[in-house]
Amino acid sequence: MADIGVIGLAVMGENLILNMASRGFTVAAFNRTVSRVPQFTSGRASGKSVVGAESLEGFVGLLKRPRKVMLMVKAGAPVDEFIAHLRPLLEPGDVIIDGGNSHPADSTRRTRELEKDGLLFVGTGVSGGEEGALTGPSIMPGGNPAAWETVRPIFQAIAARVADGTPCCDWVGPEGAGHFVKMVHNGIEYADMQMIAESYHLLSAQGGLSAPEIAQVFADWNRGELNSYLIEITADILTKTDDRTGGPLVDVILDAAGQKGTGKWTSVAALDAGSPAATITEAVYARAMSALKEERVAASAELRGPASLPAPDRAAFVEEVRRALYASKIAAYAQGFQLLRLAAGDAGWTLDFGAIAMMWRGGCIIRAQFLDRIKEAYAADPALPNLLLAPYFREAVGEHQEAWRRVVSSAALGGVPVPAFASALAYYDGYRTARLPANLIQAQRDYFGAHTYERADGPRGEFHHTNWTGR
Ligand code: NAP
Repeated sequence: MADIGVIGLAVMGENLILNMASRGFTVAAFNRTVSRVPQFTSGRASGKSVVGAESLEGFVGLLKRPRKVMLMVKAGAPVDEFIAHLRPLLEPGDVIIDGGNSHPADSTRRTRELEKDGLLFVGTGVSGGEEGALTGPSIMPGGNPAAWETVRPIFQAIAARVADGTPCCDWVGPEGAGHFVKMVHNGIEYADMQMIAESYHLLSAQGGLSAPEIAQVFADWNRGELNSYLIEITADILTKTDDRTGGPLVDVILDAAGQKGTGKWTSVAALDAGSPAATITEAVYARAMSALKEERVAASAELRGPASLPAPDRAAFVEEVRRALYASKIAAYAQGFQLLRLAAGDAGWTLDFGAIAMMWRGGCIIRAQFLDRIKEAYAADPALPNLLLAPYFREAVGEHQEAWRRVVSSAALGGVPVPAFASALAYYDGYRTARLPANLIQAQRDYFGAHTYERADGPRGEFHHTNWTGR
């Protein structure tokens, strides 16, 4: 009998199955296009503890009780369709896991619907791409808490591990909490990638560095506080030569970024929660701007920019960009964790932010050394309102802010767009400003719409209206 069954034999499903089998589990496999099952069992899974099924009934029949069925299919309708087919074949206490990139609201709905049949739903984020799925992903499960003890041994065995052996998988929270955390992970990933791209742009356009020179800079940065998977692969990418031209491959790649939508979901969730995750949203807009390639090319011949700036002192400029990148990164993570806190409050979920930092510490795309600092920050103060207030981050940003400001201003003066750097700095300055100009916005709202305002010298919740025109 199989310990778990996986439906969906595309790259993620296959690799997760092979990962599970390599950890000693017996796995049942099924796929909508059934011909892919024998292809897999006699191909990549040959000789491994993987059993294929030719029908959904046969697949369910292969599973030990309580049955654990993991869906690794395209997110959206395919998940609902498979759940509808599985429902009559399962019994109370059985677990359905969705490991795709599903919207958190769908996972909340599915948890509640399946509960009616006594079925335990788990919506889990799985990060790390194909390679991670095979060798150890970051796994972020949420849903019906009664399922956790059933799936924990498998999930924690196949997940990535940090140096001290802690698995990058823990229970996140009820309903769609697991997929929400995965979604915010992806939003932070968008911001991280955009900030790295802005650093590359600045080093190239203002610093005059070539791709191989920037590769060396990133390799150096990876040995310090910026140490992370994304910095490491960026250094690697920048050393790659194009077979056709003999020049750096990155120089011949079209500058139009794609997206699958999880960055947009995070931005929408931030707007819904009233959480100022501006840097994540700017990163989504930056991809949208990049995709307008033809328009930008036409506009570049029409629209005037500034006079070019004198070349900066290279070594000093590289160090200032490094500091700006680190400070921006801290601000972007502060926004991501603030969104988690505000959205969890709205949903009534209790999240362990330190545990989330550890789930992201290994296996996933945003894995980085500095997540240890985030874990420490929440260990010291689980109710920390904002990461920027944790002593380590407060000091780091305080030390780097002068360089951060110079980099953002020289980018503005030189006409290099740095939306993520600039919005991260504006977030920092907004958060540390005791009195923002929203008093004027309240006055304007009251003027044209009688929306009322509270007085700074009066109690909160006491609203006033002024007849501004005397009419
Ligand atoms: P995918 O291309 O997203 O989906 C292919 C799988 O979905 C196949 O098994 C396919 O079955 C099935 N499928 C598609 N439409 C269906 C339908 N209408 N009804 C039933 N089944 C249907 O595969 P993937 O890249 O392996 O990703 C699986 C999930 O993991 C997705 O939600 C994805 O977003 C998520 N994910 C992917 C990555 C990654 O790096 N690729 C990373 C993390 C998470 P057929 O063979 O019959 O077409």
